[in-house]
Amino acid sequence: MPIELENVSFSYGINTPFEKKALNEVNLKINEGELWLFIGHTGSGKSTLLNTLNGLIIPNGKVTVDTLQTNNKNTNMKELRKKVGIIFQYPESQFFLPTIAEEILYAPKNFDVDLKKEEIKFYMDIVGLPYDYLNRSPFSLSGGEMRKVAIISVLSYNPKYIIFDEPTVGLDYSTRKSVFNTVKKLNNMGKTIILSTHWISEFLELKPLVAIMKNSNLIFKGKFDDFIKLDQNFLSEAGIIFDEKLELYKKALLKNDKLKDKIAML
Ligand code: ADP
Repeated sequence: MPIELENVSFSYGINTPFEKKALNEVNLKINEGELWLFIGHTGSGKSTLLNTLNGLIIPNGKVTVDTLQTNNKNTNMKELRKKVGIIFQYPESQFFLPTIAEEILYAPKNFDVDLKKEEIKFYMDIVGLPYDYLNRSPFSLSGGEMRKVAIISVLSYNPKYIIFDEPTVGLDYSTRKSVFNTVKKLNNMGKTIILSTHWISEFLELKPLVAIMKNSNLIFKGKFDDFIKLDQNFLSEAGIIFDEKLELYKKALLKNDKLKDKIAML
């Protein structure tokens, strides 16, 4: 099993007055090539869960990525981090080098990857960033362009699993669409994608698997169409509200109407 979480629990600030449970007995299997959307209220535990997947957070229980177990002291953490790339929320806040080219070359060097020019161009094509940006300062870019650079710096060391923590937060409509296209291309290339978001309907076309977090618990995991059919109260208590597109899709799905596939492409 490529990624497996078994009885995963985690609390912040243990034995302090601020102790806070963030994950409670989570069990989940993620197979190679799948695309998972993690949804639920802010504070429900999504980021914490994503951070357990590359050893940034070592929880109780067991997290296994391919053959690597995150809480095993013999695990090569560098190998794990290279396998599981995380694109954090507001990743642009981590830029510190003078040019985009240097920024892109920084991460692969850490993983002993010698990035070739053609590879940089390949990744720029995937995210939709013009080549002549390479000599610009990251700080001269718009928010959406910065996000693209941050995505390239993770793609640059070719991780097998790619985690996006709210990749479209704070972006305008057209950049959200382009992040969506990047996710689609990467998934079509066979990458396993794990993504937390508040914008479910943007990913409808890809029919992702869905995981719902609520108060540190994983309360649903399954196929997109099973998620769509969930009880409305159950969903709204988890902070999930369907927009018009999801409602239309649900109606077509319940009537077994082929129109649903057209709606998904809208
Ligand atoms: P989400 O990604 O769903 O918004 P998080 O995983 O960020 O949820 O947070 C889960 C819970 O853990 C929340 O109650 C949050 O306040 C708490 N939490 C998150 N990060 C920290 C931290 N660094 N220190 C203390 N508590 C935290």
